[in-house]
Amino acid sequence: MTTRPMHSQTTSVDQLRDTLRRIRHLKGRQADEQALQEVRALIGAAPHRRDVLIEHLHQLNDCYRGLHERHLVALAHEMQLSQAEVFEVATFYHHFEVIADDAVPAALTVRVCDGLSCEMGGAQALLAKLPAILGQDVRVIPAPCVGRCEQAPVAVVHQHAVPRATPESVAQAVKAQHTQGNTTDHIDFDAYVADGGYALATALHLGAADAEQVLQAMEDSGLRGLGGAGFPAGRKWRIVREQAAPRLMAVNIDEGEPGTFKDRTYLERDPHRFLEGLLIAAHVVGIDAVYIYLRDEYHGCRDMLRQELAALQANPPCPLPLIELRRGAGAYICGEESAMIESIEGKRGEPRMRPPYIAQVGLFGRPTLEHNLETLYWVRDIVQKGPGWFSSFGRHGRTGLRSFSVSGRVNQPGVKLAPAGITLQELVDEYCGGMLAGHTLYAYLPGGASGGILPAHMNNIPLDFDTLQPYDCFIGSAAVIVLSQHDKARDAALNMMQFFAHESCGQCTPCRVGTAKAVQLMQAPVWDNATLEDLNQVMADASICGLGQAAPNPVRSIQKYFAQEIV
Ligand code: SF4
Repeated sequence: MTTRPMHSQTTSVDQLRDTLRRIRHLKGRQADEQALQEVRALIGAAPHRRDVLIEHLHQLNDCYRGLHERHLVALAHEMQLSQAEVFEVATFYHHFEVIADDAVPAALTVRVCDGLSCEMGGAQALLAKLPAILGQDVRVIPAPCVGRCEQAPVAVVHQHAVPRATPESVAQAVKAQHTQGNTTDHIDFDAYVADGGYALATALHLGAADAEQVLQAMEDSGLRGLGGAGFPAGRKWRIVREQAAPRLMAVNIDEGEPGTFKDRTYLERDPHRFLEGLLIAAHVVGIDAVYIYLRDEYHGCRDMLRQELAALQANPPCPLPLIELRRGAGAYICGEESAMIESIEGKRGEPRMRPPYIAQVGLFGRPTLEHNLETLYWVRDIVQKGPGWFSSFGRHGRTGLRSFSVSGRVNQPGVKLAPAGITLQELVDEYCGGMLAGHTLYAYLPGGASGGILPAHMNNIPLDFDTLQPYDCFIGSAAVIVLSQHDKARDAALNMMQFFAHESCGQCTPCRVGTAKAVQLMQAPVWDNATLEDLNQVMADASICGLGQAAPNPVRSIQKYFAQEIV
């Protein structure tokens, strides 16, 4: 065997380095120094974790009112990611706008919610009038449901929501530069503690309360996941507790289902009640780290929650797990638990195939307890008042409490805490002050966009998990939208399908193509029911996640209950 002389080896290495350098310069766009400086000024010095990519994109988006391509290239360089990885995430979320380097973004953006309740409240008229009133410097665009359906119609001036918006009130907000998130009138940390808050979490930690008894109380209460899926909360705790450590928790406050606003309402009122539920769950299940995923539309809540978390962490009543607050970026699909987990990991919010279930392989590959805010919100009351307290409520043979987000043609829309099993008519009469003057009940959506549409004469069905399936509907997150004789159910169904087409993550063809095709078919004066049913079947059978699987529900409701509108 011959050995090559040392200088020869050095020459080869140098040549290789030169070649690599040339290849690197030939491939792809290079980060320019100024863009690197600008990115570093915002996100700080490397190293950067992969999972905070979306947080960094937010910083750039907020600062430059858009994502300039040169910044994305520089961000990829700083985070040591491929440019493709950064671009594919940046272009996935509606609240990020990738713009050319020489583009000048609008000085201000006004988003007008065109979700069903806002649509019924006059969103299209607002969209038509505002551009001329606000001038060229202000960009006016439609936005999917912003989670304030009880305040319809809603416009959002940068980050500031204008409830019951009129052209004048939006113009006034723009003129007065009301652009920051809305303030909240909430119970803060000191007030919550003064009223006995965190006593249960502390008792658990000190051993004065027993984790197994708490878990048993959760199981006995019958509390089910209130994000929409309805999986028994206590059973979920037990399943995750049996998995190998370390275990993580992901809290879903990405309520994007049109018509749903209960989580925001509870968060705005009493944030620590949910945070204590989180700590109790973390202790019982043995959670090391918690990631709270808050939808981007809730700007005021984000500022408030940051402050309240800081207050809790500054004066912890018991040892706290790591708690990180993550900001969504405008994608309905991230309300789906596995899509949310992808997003927390800094990726596109594309739902995962299951199994494995996230209780076994979830966030960062670890067993993960996923909960909706409201589910955690009730934990303290259930444990302190006893499981019988929660299950003592109920009507028509159902048990428990439900928080109905009611919007549409009623006198008093809002979150209504009512017995599970209450009927629509009872809900409207007893909790919503009846129908608006000049309106009579025509139809209602019992479970937001996905839950189907029912006619007025079916106003006496108990509203709860499992009671609506015989009618091809479901309650989901209990978002009830009430329609009157001035509305058309087919228009509502079209609005829903347009929403699904807009929000499909695009991962699977039946959903991506099917929802878009269904929109076209539903715009025809007379529906081609045979083709629509064909599409319905394919979407329901072959879509990966609930969005595509439930997208046919509004169509089927129209075909079944409102056939007179589509012939
Ligand atoms: Fe994405 Fe739709 Fe498929 Fe769900 S069903 S994974 S939203 S394309």
